[in-house]
Amino acid sequence: MTAHDRATGILSIDLDAIADNWRTLAAHAPNAEAAGVVKADGYGLGAAPVARALRKAGCTTFFVATIDEGISLRPHVNDARILVLGGVLPGTGADFIGHQLIPVLNSPEQIGLWSGFAAAGGRPLPAAIHIDSGMNRLGLDETAVELLAADNRRLDGIQPVLVMSHMACADERDHAMNRQQLDRFTVLADRLGVSAPRSLAASSTIFLGADYHFDLIRPGAGLYGINPMPDSPNPLRQTVRLHGKILQVRDVDTPRPLAMVPAIGSNPRAGSPPSPAVTPMACSGPWAIAALVSSGVKVPVVGRISMDLITLDVSAVAPAHVHAGALVELIGPDHDVDALAAEAGTIGYEILTSLGRRYLRDYSGGNT
Ligand SMILES: *Cc1c(COP(=O)(O)O)cnc(C)c1O
Repeated sequence: MTAHDRATGILSIDLDAIADNWRTLAAHAPNAEAAGVVKADGYGLGAAPVARALRKAGCTTFFVATIDEGISLRPHVNDARILVLGGVLPGTGADFIGHQLIPVLNSPEQIGLWSGFAAAGGRPLPAAIHIDSGMNRLGLDETAVELLAADNRRLDGIQPVLVMSHMACADERDHAMNRQQLDRFTVLADRLGVSAPRSLAASSTIFLGADYHFDLIRPGAGLYGINPMPDSPNPLRQTVRLHGKILQVRDVDTPRPLAMVPAIGSNPRAGSPPSPAVTPMACSGPWAIAALVSSGVKVPVVGRISMDLITLDVSAVAPAHVHAGALVELIGPDHDVDALAAEAGTIGYEILTSLGRRYLRDYSGGNT
């Protein structure tokens, strides 16, 4: 029995499309370096294969979330910079140095730790410095910036390689917060007085214009094909296809034959309603796009999409095509990750990260 036989679904990942998306995003910010964000195991698609493909395309800076992600990634991109968004924790300094990882310092405490570590080792250590420009999550707030501006010995031993911030509402082009965060980032970065390249833009922010690009862009979601500007056509390529296997067919106790396929994850987000009892509805499900691979027929979904199971009305398909193990296309050219996310009441990031854990990953491309 092969892994393909055992899998309840197959996630086909197109590394060339991911590399193309990186090039497209980079081309939108021609004066900035384009990094690649591969946190959460490359948004569920595999940090190592994704980063190797991006490295071949020319990407030399990667962001991960945790030190463990950085340690796992290191051997796959030997000559690239790896920045750890979560920053340094007590006791992890030697791991950062041993694996040549660069922390993103998010607080005065992290700055103190890193500076102390540099002093102990007797040599300067690179770090990015994260300013909170309004996201109210990670990063130095105004008080912390003032503290450092007033006493820059606190930065002793730290060799700043980036001053960065993260946007809260960039996927809404006209949100007033965008300009405010841009201005606040500029003011606070100037106040900090550290001379280093600057970075503000994740995927969506890249599309707010050149003012937002600074010296380095940090796309994640866009690399994987998630639409950075949900109100505009997606400029990026789809990178995944998902084929689920029919687990079971019910045609005795139901007015219409129904096929059950595994769905998209196991952690419903708040707001995703539970799947109601399967009651065949008129063929106007929330989407009518799952296609039985062997027959090419598109079939409607019955009831709601749950994270665990999707029920399809297969009455339009010749019975010979409908059997346990038959493949159904759940994500593909006609029905992308964003569409599935909208139907499941979640976001593309959540869909991708849950898919990658659940299904067999099947890679193509990645050599150019
Ligand atoms: C996740 C993350 C990114 C990438 O964001 P996308 O919206 O997925 O492009 C960039 N910067 C930081 C700090 C992040 O946490």
